[in-house]
Amino acid sequence: MEIVLQNLTKIFPGRGKSSEEVIAVNDFSFTLPDGKLVGLLGPSGCGKSTTLYMISGLQKPSAGRIFFGEDDVTDLSPENRGVGLVFQNYALYPHLTVKQNILFPLQNLRGADKLSKKEMIERAYEAAKLVQIDELMERKPSELSGGQQQRVAIARALVKMPRVLLLDEPLSNLDARLRLQTREEIRRIQKETGITTVFVTHDQEEAMSISDLIVVMKLGVVQQIDEPQAVYDDPTNLFVAKFLGTPPINVLEGRVVGEKLYIGESAVMDVPGVLDQEVIVGIRPEGFVLDANGPLTCKLSNVEVMGRDISVVSTHESSLNPTVRSIINADNKVPAAETVSYSLKPHKVFLFSKEDESRIRFEVK
Ligand code: ADP
Ligand code: MG
Repeated sequence: MEIVLQNLTKIFPGRGKSSEEVIAVNDFSFTLPDGKLVGLLGPSGCGKSTTLYMISGLQKPSAGRIFFGEDDVTDLSPENRGVGLVFQNYALYPHLTVKQNILFPLQNLRGADKLSKKEMIERAYEAAKLVQIDELMERKPSELSGGQQQRVAIARALVKMPRVLLLDEPLSNLDARLRLQTREEIRRIQKETGITTVFVTHDQEEAMSISDLIVVMKLGVVQQIDEPQAVYDDPTNLFVAKFLGTPPINVLEGRVVGEKLYIGESAVMDVPGVLDQEVIVGIRPEGFVLDANGPLTCKLSNVEVMGRDISVVSTHESSLNPTVRSIINADNKVPAAETVSYSLKPHKVFLFSKEDESRIRFEVK
């Protein structure tokens, strides 16, 4: 089921006399493709949940429309949209068993949708199998781990065979290992069922690893929509470049003169087609090549061993962050010295306007 968002906007009135209204979601137009998993990504408060709640029907848009396929669902109540919702806190009924929790949404079906007892049990077991908790059906939620509880919540969302599955930070309450495992699980379930899914998270790594497409948001405004790797490799502005990647991108002050990029006094790279100007330079940690004669020289602080890679921590007076961090294959040796010199991989270096932090493109040979 394709989801079409048309100029979707949500404005919350200010609380109290002097406070200003909040544009939580600002004119969001986008088609979420059928059968895909779309990650909504951005820092806390950027409008992810509000977008999800409008898709679910829990919140009414201030403007704009929402379509599921051909159906305009904008004025439909949540029950009539055919959505499955999963929140951060699993919100299971504590006094009911796993089975009863999963059955619950089916027992409220009325009219043509009403199922026989046998059909309900079959559906509940199907959903439970899908999330691999069919062995735990007689337990109470308090007898389950956090990961198992979240699976029950997902089974409960799936049991009605929703047209759309909406997940709001579903992994936030799990510990690191369970988080990894459960996100793989969600991906598997999504692929198996083919349900169009929206996955909200503030965790860029999570969004990158699970999504077919990611939507990066900032203060209610969509910044970029693309496949995860494309957003990482080709960020549209400094905000997006900084939001994606661990360790994060290095940010330095630079200057373009005669189609050469200068950091400090050194010309570090050719940037064909860029006009003379001051710029902000973003260098991905993997964009540095150890090179004794390289043009970018930093003051060496520390070398961190990470097994497969090493991370070289240094400083540079043009850096806008406290440190410059590179990631180098552990086969390399960093010479013990006061400084470390690099050449740069041009496709890992991005230039941004000092005025509005938008991307300034150059030709990479
Ligand atoms: P996110 O899920 O990305 O953290 P939200 O969608 O929850 O962000 O919130 C977006 C913005 O809207 C925030 O500034 C938040 O304070 C505001 N907001 C959310 N819900 C309400 C509400 N019910 N009343 C007023 N402001 C709200
Ligand atoms: Mg939220």
